[in-house]
Amino acid sequence: MKKVSLIIPCYNEEQSLPLLYEAICATAAEHDAYEWEFLFVNDGSKDSTLEIIKNLRADDKRVSFVDLSRNFGKERAMLAGFDYAQGDCAVVMDADLQHPPKVIGEMLAKWEEGYDDIYGKRITRGKESWLRKSLSLTFYKLLGKISNIDLLPNVGDFRLLDRRCIDALKQLRESERYTKGLYCWIGYKKTFVEFEQGERAAGESKWNFFKLLSLAMEGVVSFSTAPLKIATFAGFICAMASIIYSVYFLIKSLVVTDPVAGFPTLIITILFIGGLQLICLGIIGEYVGRIFNESKRRPVYFAREHEAGEV
Ligand code: UDP
Ligand code: MG
Repeated sequence: MKKVSLIIPCYNEEQSLPLLYEAICATAAEHDAYEWEFLFVNDGSKDSTLEIIKNLRADDKRVSFVDLSRNFGKERAMLAGFDYAQGDCAVVMDADLQHPPKVIGEMLAKWEEGYDDIYGKRITRGKESWLRKSLSLTFYKLLGKISNIDLLPNVGDFRLLDRRCIDALKQLRESERYTKGLYCWIGYKKTFVEFEQGERAAGESKWNFFKLLSLAMEGVVSFSTAPLKIATFAGFICAMASIIYSVYFLIKSLVVTDPVAGFPTLIITILFIGGLQLICLGIIGEYVGRIFNESKRRPVYFAREHEAGEV
């Protein structure tokens, strides 16, 4: 019997877990030709999430869990999920029921057709603000243009991965992770199923604007060196312009001697070049910071406790 692992990263999800458990049990019952594993990754929750998971496990041996030593963030929690998943394939899904378990059936059908990576494509984005929607669309367009990989808009982490993909992802152990990009990077045979993203079942989204912005930055910097090229290019243009400008001033000051006028030009130029230099330094800094972090070669996460299989 083929085994399917559901990888569910959880951070303070005590309210949604009972609802989620009910829904995934229904899905598992519907597809009883497979053996199921419900792998919860407790990402350092501060509420009773872990107790709830342990209670579920006491009654149901399909439930297994990894308890991380602290909150590492969803991206790293997913890697822990890949590491501990035992299935022939795994479905990554959120704990808040925004990823409807019903769709898993369609994913499994595609998997049986021979696809390795079946991603869920949102056709509605739930109750998200107009600003967030358009910002994220623009971001994907931009990132697609400047990086060498094809990133898809409206595609999140809800997907079914064949064992091949899981084993590939397990080898990508960078600690600054942008998993959405990694799925594209590893390749393999991909297809999609569409799903309607509902509202959060309970609790609140853990993402705020700044977290999203930093994830977006991660996406750009970890998949492309285009910002560095843009910085070089901008520097080059400025240097050229300043050569032309200085020739112009040299001639002007030789012909007409006018020492005081020109102060505005001077201050604007200084500020402009200064600003540009700071931006370029910042961009370089983003990359250097990542080199620094990766060069420490720290493990991506620590697990406190892990239980799987027979109770
Ligand atoms: N999550 C996590 N660690 C975190 C933040 C979130 O494991 O530090 C989990 C969370 O429990 C949920 C999933 O990641 O299962 C998606 O989080 P959320 O619903 O807050 O994000 P959104 O749906 O708003 O993008
Ligand atoms: Mg959510």
